[in-house]
Amino acid sequence: MRIYHKNSDLTNYLHTIRTIGDSIGFVPTMGALHQGHLSLIQASKNECAISVVSIFVNPTQFNNKTDFELYPRDNERDISLLQNLMGENDCLFLPSIDDIYSDGTNKKYDLQNLDKTMEGEHRPGHFNGVAMVVARLFDIVKPHKAFFGQKDFQQLAIIKFLAKYILKQKIDIIECPTIRESSGLAMSSRNTRLNSAQRSQAALLSDTLFKIASLKPIMSPNEVKIWAKDRINASGTLNTEYVEIVNAETLVSITNWNEPGEKVVCLAAIIGGIRLIDNLKIS
Ligand code: AMP
Repeated sequence: MRIYHKNSDLTNYLHTIRTIGDSIGFVPTMGALHQGHLSLIQASKNECAISVVSIFVNPTQFNNKTDFELYPRDNERDISLLQNLMGENDCLFLPSIDDIYSDGTNKKYDLQNLDKTMEGEHRPGHFNGVAMVVARLFDIVKPHKAFFGQKDFQQLAIIKFLAKYILKQKIDIIECPTIRESSGLAMSSRNTRLNSAQRSQAALLSDTLFKIASLKPIMSPNEVKIWAKDRINASGTLNTEYVEIVNAETLVSITNWNEPGEKVVCLAAIIGGIRLIDNLKIS
């Protein structure tokens, strides 16, 4: 695996790859890699000749300084995990903050209200920071395909919108399924901050999501949201920030199961000061 720190070194190498006509797959991450990240990299390797993984803990997407500081970082471990998976011509990109924000970028993106609900409501500025870093990384890597997890469903919807309507770059955004622990808990770098009791209590989030499909015939979307919040909060350890049932494309809350379009239940909850998110599409 090739490791690049400087934009110019990576872009020179990728220019050669494009010249010979090979396809480039891209997996942006913030590191502290787990099986969820590795599944995205495997998908990229299956579909593209060359895969580029970036690890960059993006300061502009953290609205809380302590959260940024406490975000788990372990480049050494990440590199050894990647060495086992990546080929000799695949790349790991480890840019510095200056490399990414060298132009002092402070753009404001109009994300058409996709950034106003759920995560956007609870983490002001978060998605603008995500859009900034993704736009910058797409510009450096210029991938043919970029791989993102359903785990961050709202982020995925926003990146699809960003690529298609704002950047107008021809990049296929590939949606990859959420990888879960055997308990059902969605894998997340933040899970490393949970102690073992919290880790098993946190499985209540996915357990609640899995039960929702069976409630559809007897409860309205609003009733389901209340049921889910009460069930999670009753644990005494988990506190919901939100439970929403939205149209998967517009992210607008649904009030009736018969509304057209795919639907997804999204939630965020806090346990021991650690904020976890999860979601599930419902047919
Ligand atoms: P992060 O490092 O948290 O910024 O995540 C990098 C990418 O990995 C994003 O596209 C996430 O949606 C994806 N990802 C994170 N956790 C999972 C998971 N459990 N399953 C699948 N993809 C994931």
